[in-house]
Amino acid sequence: MTEPSHADRAGMRSLGHLLRPHRKSLAAAGLLALLNAAAALAQPLLVRRVIHDIQTGRPRAAAVTVLVFALVVAAVLSGLQSYLLQRTGEAVVLSTRVQLVRRLLRLPVTELDRRRTGDLISRVGADTTLLRTVVTSGLVDVVSGLLIAVGALVAMATVDLLLLGITVVAVTVGFTGAIVVVRRVRPASLAAQTSVGTMTSGIERALSGVRTIRAAGAEEREEAAVTVFARDAFTAGLQLARLRALLGPLAAVAVQGAFLAVLGVGGARVASGTISVGDLVAFVLLLFLLVQPLAQGIQALTAVQTGLGALSRIQEVLDLPAESASDVVIADLPVSASVEVRFQDVDFAYAKGGSVLRGTTFVAPTGRRTALVGPSGAGKSTVFALIERFYEVSSGAVLVGDQDVRNLDRAQLRNRMAYVEQDAPVLAGTLRENLLLGRPGAVDSELLAALEQVNLLELAVRSVEGLDAQVGDDGILLSGGERQRLAIARALLSRPALLLLDEPTSSLDARNEHALSRAVAAIGPGTTVLVIAHRLSTVVDADQIVVLDRGTVVATGTHDELVASSPLYRDLAARQLLV
Ligand code: ATP
Repeated sequence: MTEPSHADRAGMRSLGHLLRPHRKSLAAAGLLALLNAAAALAQPLLVRRVIHDIQTGRPRAAAVTVLVFALVVAAVLSGLQSYLLQRTGEAVVLSTRVQLVRRLLRLPVTELDRRRTGDLISRVGADTTLLRTVVTSGLVDVVSGLLIAVGALVAMATVDLLLLGITVVAVTVGFTGAIVVVRRVRPASLAAQTSVGTMTSGIERALSGVRTIRAAGAEEREEAAVTVFARDAFTAGLQLARLRALLGPLAAVAVQGAFLAVLGVGGARVASGTISVGDLVAFVLLLFLLVQPLAQGIQALTAVQTGLGALSRIQEVLDLPAESASDVVIADLPVSASVEVRFQDVDFAYAKGGSVLRGTTFVAPTGRRTALVGPSGAGKSTVFALIERFYEVSSGAVLVGDQDVRNLDRAQLRNRMAYVEQDAPVLAGTLRENLLLGRPGAVDSELLAALEQVNLLELAVRSVEGLDAQVGDDGILLSGGERQRLAIARALLSRPALLLLDEPTSSLDARNEHALSRAVAAIGPGTTVLVIAHRLSTVVDADQIVVLDRGTVVATGTHDELVASSPLYRDLAARQLLV
């Protein structure tokens, strides 16, 4: 047998880590397996006794009763063990999923940019399921199987040494062949699970763009693309199936060979009077007991190797550091109501792609409303991402409340800000839960007032459940504009020191645009507002407008000042019929 590889050892270590919290259940299952093994081993020896008693004309009810009892006990114990293992298997899957979700939700945004969502989802769904099999048809079976096998060998030695020798040779040959095959299962399983991940991300991408696909009549093209991934998964699955299929015949040859040899040689020995019929029957029953756990052991090793393939994908995510893992907090945000935001000569580039911000410098004064405008792709949303500290600047500094954001506690920083994304998502839950995220202690009248501020009160009466109506995929479906306004209501409720509002380009009609501008204007000096404005009409009355072009601030001023001084702004305004 080859030495276990580094990957095998690392895999076994992380498997041990995942199983550690369940060690009591596993130990209980192991104990049941031991008792079960003892009950199973006792049976052939009891049968021998019964046959012997019958042959000598002294049948005894007691031996038969004990045999039946051992049979029933073995059956009950095996049922209990099976349930306990299944339950532990489910618990291992659950705790792994919880760990994965906890880590996924805390991964740095840069890491999430790099990875495909569908593949991450498949790690939580498909990969964790394979761990169940490791526990249910895996570890305990190997332990109990080994015990039964050793017990059977010892019992065989008491019956006939020659037959034992024949058995050992046949079984060793078969088992060694099987181990060689089993060791190739882990890489094959990893390949299979990786292609399932790729396929899941293909489907996820296609479904999220299904309207565009339908509108463009591109179903066949997408179907072909996803089918390629599905075929890759099929090919990887076949490779795994081939390995598993090899195991069956290998085991069968070894087992059949052992049985035939034992029956042939054993028959001759009975005929010559060296052993009795009872001995031969007991030996054959013991052979059953030996072979069954060995086959189970091989199956278990296969399951463990398959699980290790999936586990390496799970462990890869669990090993990624959380967003704040290397943070050093050396400053506190001032407790004053609103805060100033200052960009000092900031350069920034995403991991993929060229430089996005170049020497960006501006100040958003405390308690004022500053608008960021500029052509598409100028870097406006990137400015927000840097304030939220989703990414770190390449050079220069971003200061919030006079503190470099790199010195602040991320949670504290984000706690003081509200961020309304351009394509504001609705979170799972009810209307109330979505709003309470802004301010957990708010009462219904405050929630309704916030909805009214953004002209969304109608949402609370649309369903008889009012604020308790589910929103999003499971309930009331909201339009893009409604989602955005709900997010703004949530932001207003939180009374943030800093409100970052990435305004939608097209989701708002004139009436709602007006309601939104009114709500933002009414926020008051307790909040510094930074708003990315695609429609300049919503920010003509901002205290200050910062014009961004290809990552650089090209002008700053009020609407009237900029119309007079900035050609780019004048051009943007002219296109929107504002001058
Ligand atoms: P718009 O007005 O169209 O929303 P914007 O001014 O907000 O545009 P950004 O979203 O900041 O522009 O994008 C600036 C540049 O950075 C674009 O060229 C974009 O392709 C790139 N970019 C944005 N997000 C990422 C990302 N996560 N990874 C790599 N590049 C990105």
